[in-house]
Amino acid sequence: MTTFADLGLSESTLEALEDVGYEKPSPIQEQAIPPMLEGRDVIGQAQTGSGKTAAFGLPIIEYIDPTEPEVQALVLTPTRELCIQVTQALRAYATRKGADVVAVFGGAPIRTQQAQLKAGGHIVVGTVGRVLDLIGRHSLVLDHCRFVVLDEADEMLDLGFLEDVEKILRLTPNSRQTALFSATMPPPIRALADNYLYDPEHVKVQSATLTVDSVEQFQLTVKTADKADKLVEVLEAERPDQAIVFVRTKIRTDQLYKKMKDRGFNVKALHGDMSQGSRDGVMLGFKGGRVPILVATDVAARGLDISTVTHVVNFDVPRSPDVYVHRIGRTGRVGRAGRAITFVEPKQEKELEAIERHTGVKVSPWAAGAHVEPAPIVEKPRRHTKPHVTRNGDEDYAKLIVAGGRAAGIEVADLVSAVTHAASIDGEAVRDVKVLEHFAFLSVPAAEAERIAAAVDGERVRGRRIRVEPAKV
Ligand code: AMP
Repeated sequence: MTTFADLGLSESTLEALEDVGYEKPSPIQEQAIPPMLEGRDVIGQAQTGSGKTAAFGLPIIEYIDPTEPEVQALVLTPTRELCIQVTQALRAYATRKGADVVAVFGGAPIRTQQAQLKAGGHIVVGTVGRVLDLIGRHSLVLDHCRFVVLDEADEMLDLGFLEDVEKILRLTPNSRQTALFSATMPPPIRALADNYLYDPEHVKVQSATLTVDSVEQFQLTVKTADKADKLVEVLEAERPDQAIVFVRTKIRTDQLYKKMKDRGFNVKALHGDMSQGSRDGVMLGFKGGRVPILVATDVAARGLDISTVTHVVNFDVPRSPDVYVHRIGRTGRVGRAGRAITFVEPKQEKELEAIERHTGVKVSPWAAGAHVEPAPIVEKPRRHTKPHVTRNGDEDYAKLIVAGGRAAGIEVADLVSAVTHAASIDGEAVRDVKVLEHFAFLSVPAAEAERIAAAVDGERVRGRRIRVEPAKV
């Protein structure tokens, strides 16, 4: 088992980790910390919940010189929520070192942030627009910035910030060390990495599964008019330490919030129509544990990581299976089993079926006190949904993608043998095996692709468990 000390972190950082109660590194930390400490640029494919903040934060803090007043590191985030969250985490990791972390984000008075920067920040965490603004006002000077982190780069792309990100990168020293974290790697993000990172080490964790151990998933069929009553019943039976109740629209969020409040629940609402100030207040209250129940829209709760959340209630069925996975990934974090309960209106049964197909989990009916086998939450690659099928002779072949490649000592013959054994198929049926540095591909008869992928997934090859799934186009 790898420990934080094995990764090359110093005594003061190890003490800081003891303070925050982390016992062992998460997979992304295990993979990203050593190259970061070596001074390499890093591309990390990981999402909120994987422990990515410490993965880039700890190595940066190691190299911060607290006696130098300049800004030495910049972390760019797509949203203010993530900015606040990253700042809080970095502050906890940096206390022993004596490094100051300043958060700068839009929607809050710029003067206060200018004053904070003037007083000195070794690490600045900021949203893209506000960072540019502060640079323009000469309040933020990046001449000595040795580290730049782009956090959730794909979100920055989705929100249209990529050009501004490039502007900021061009204002930092060429000699900087750069880390780019992104859940997905669409072409514009790859291009950004090609242009602004130098010979990056690519590290990847497969999915949110890595810290989301497992979630017990339930559903209950309920008529629209009965939903609020049902919610009361569920909350009374479940007695969550902390729950997020997801609602599709801002208006319905407010309506439900009022209803729950009227019924005496200690509840708060979070949605995009609220002022920034009240949103921050609600977030802090919830994170601090003072608010046990949060009624929220997806957008408002985006990127929110709360390790104490025990329950997610989908008051409205999520718009897509991806959203479902994203929502319920907020519970059961880092070693805790969570419970997710989805309200399904009679006409929405098809939507639930789509979710079940996507997650591969049959969601059981909810009953007070019921338990089911917890299932890991597997975040499938987004944007790609159709299996990759080609015609080979007169049979359709489907491509499988294997996480694990040359770097793990895996060779073509190892994969063929693993597949033929685990899935009991003839070696002839395995075609086009290609082993790359960290991945491998192979083709198998399309009709059996799902079964074969499931059979081989998790098998040991050269002492290492491989992950296998059908490739999508
Ligand atoms: P992040 O993905 O950086 O937002 O982290 C997700 C959550 O995991 C946060 O609540 C962290 O405090 C927590 N966390 C990060 N690394 C570890 C670790 N090695 N052990 C336990 N908890 C961790």
